[in-house]
Amino acid sequence: MNSPTLIVHGGAWAIPPEMAEDHQRGVSNALSKGYAVLTRGGTATDAVEAAVTVLEDDPTFDAGRGSFLTSEGRVQLDALLMDGATLRAGGVACVEHLRNPIQAARLVLDRSHHIYFVGPGAEDFAASHGMPLIHNRELVLDRERIRLANAQARLAQGLSDITFSGALAQDDKSPETAAQNLLSHDTVGAVAFDQFGNLAAGTSTGGTLNKAPGRVGDSSLIGCGCYADNLSAAVSLTGWGEPIMKLVLGKWATDRVAQGNSPELVAQQAIDYLFQRLGGHGGIILLGPDGRFGLAHNTPGMAWGVADLNGERTGLVV
Ligand code: ASP
Repeated sequence: MNSPTLIVHGGAWAIPPEMAEDHQRGVSNALSKGYAVLTRGGTATDAVEAAVTVLEDDPTFDAGRGSFLTSEGRVQLDALLMDGATLRAGGVACVEHLRNPIQAARLVLDRSHHIYFVGPGAEDFAASHGMPLIHNRELVLDRERIRLANAQARLAQGLSDITFSGALAQDDKSPETAAQNLLSHDTVGAVAFDQFGNLAAGTSTGGTLNKAPGRVGDSSLIGCGCYADNLSAAVSLTGWGEPIMKLVLGKWATDRVAQGNSPELVAQQAIDYLFQRLGGHGGIILLGPDGRFGLAHNTPGMAWGVADLNGERTGLVV
């Protein structure tokens, strides 16, 4: 029997001191819930779903209720869940009426021969399998209405778009300084290794602030913000989605673990590659099939938690 491991993240950015406690508590709650699933003999997929559900329910993070708003002021959510034992995956994108998109992703994984649903089709699928549909306003916080109004006012004044790092990164060779100026990347994710020796990964997000309706980022795309394969590794990423997608960075990282490199080394290499190649910023959690793991980010902070035989630890900087 293998000893289980769970790693969670709650986004990578310059987490301000006044928000530190909420982030730390959020990842800690998710870790406890998910790890309890593993120690009770649950599967890696069950644990990832449970941990991500806790993070989606926590309004601190850019997932589920409390997510960033689209340019039209709505919450639009994406999530992926992947089982490394079978390579079965379930993804949903652009859903507006589901409280927990990771649970809809689980339904797709378990009950469909398709692997990815978007928009109303995803919601119909979830509803037909018993998930309640809610009004979008139940997912929207006043905090986010204000944040959107401020971002749109900035753009109207011709100021740079602080939701993306491209322009900033080009002016400054240091990823830390470029990312310091950015708004949050509070996407959530988890990777797990269970007692049966199986890996799983999940990522859930409200995407980027002021995104165009219909925009899908890396988080829910297989091999970009999320991937799991028992023969390589399980990974979840957060950060500026478009560069992560262009590099198919999740699969890039798991392939390197399959080639025999340590997850610790590969996690750092993936984040270095993201910045050197495209000026991107973000964070990664990466778990190998032997329980070895790596965490890395080129943002000032990343909310993370690890639970294994050595106990539970959380932090905001690795
Ligand atoms: N990667 C996400 C996206 O681009 C954002 C994030 O990580 O917070 O949709």
